[in-house]
Amino acid sequence: MSSLSIDVFTSGYKPISGGPGWDDSSPATWPASTSTLIAGHGDAVLVDALLTVSEGQRLAAWVRNSGKRLRAIVVTHAHADHFFGAGPVLDAFPDARLLASDQQVVDEARAQTTPGALARWNAWFPGRQVTDAPATPVLAGSSEFHLDGRPLVFRTIGGADGVLATIVHVPDLRAVCAGDIVYNNVHMWLRGSTPDSRRAWLASLDAVAALTPSTIITGHRDPAAPDDDAGRVLDQSRRYIEDFDRTVAVSGTPQEVIDTMVERYPAHGNRYTLFVAAVSQFPPHRST
Ligand SMILES: [Zn+2]
Repeated sequence: MSSLSIDVFTSGYKPISGGPGWDDSSPATWPASTSTLIAGHGDAVLVDALLTVSEGQRLAAWVRNSGKRLRAIVVTHAHADHFFGAGPVLDAFPDARLLASDQQVVDEARAQTTPGALARWNAWFPGRQVTDAPATPVLAGSSEFHLDGRPLVFRTIGGADGVLATIVHVPDLRAVCAGDIVYNNVHMWLRGSTPDSRRAWLASLDAVAALTPSTIITGHRDPAAPDDDAGRVLDQSRRYIEDFDRTVAVSGTPQEVIDTMVERYPAHGNRYTLFVAAVSQFPPHRST
């Protein structure tokens, strides 16, 4: 039996500024997100590190409470909501390294810290909720990390929600930390997606399924989700992308897309994600 264990920290939904077109009668929110601690007897690795300063502080306290010595934080993909919260964790564990397993993730993470990108994150999370000096990952020296001699395998998968997606595979536990390739009962980030990018995302789901995991920890997970069953979340994510693709093709307005998807996924969390995804599919006509 493997000595490794997995624990998941799930943030709640965070209120954000919804922006133009959002009906403020219900608050816009950012999807609930996860950070996963993979641990051996003494040492541990964290996969992803949330977004806001206060989330980073809560995460640091949670890891400290585990009693494990944190050796690394691995960033699955370069969206700020998966690594801007790393600062307080790195402060608590100065020997831990912030890593990505693919140079493209390293580069894309740096691009999230430009003044323009930081301004966009600050617009969603005003009032200095987000650090103005995020730590960025460096390239891991190897595609495997060992805890108690057991491997965590880093794999580059491909396209998903707009940036390159990598995963952490724990063969001993038949578990995958899938970042934002797979979602668990939360609307999927299809903002700016195209038929081609959606096809690429479906191929990424197939690549994760090919590892035959039994457990998938998704980057975004509804706190009330019943489980982390790999078959269930893979099926759900595949069906969601296919439904969105078909619905956009036959709809004339963002509202039609929203209504159809809400009818199919009434219990999914974070309708704001669906709103921005639907709006992005109908760009305003430029006047000549
Ligand atoms: Zn995300």
